[in-house]
Amino acid sequence: MPVPRRRHCSSRRDRRRAHTKLEAVAGIVECPKCAAPRLPHRACPACGEYNGRIYKRVKAVKEAKQ
Ligand SMILES: [Zn+2]
Repeated sequence: MPVPRRRHCSSRRDRRRAHTKLEAVAGIVECPKCAAPRLPHRACPACGEYNGRIYKRVKAVKEAKQ
């Protein structure tokens, strides 16, 4: 019984996979305070702020207060 050599060509495969990378980037938002990339609904790793409050102590923030 004959067997197909390949299901789809490489361009068709790459067109399908192109969307997976785009969705991974869409899960990153910009911090409104310092414009650093952060995950949505998480405190910012750069300034520790989320929803107008500081939830996480960051070294740079401590040095600025002293
Ligand atoms: Zn920030």
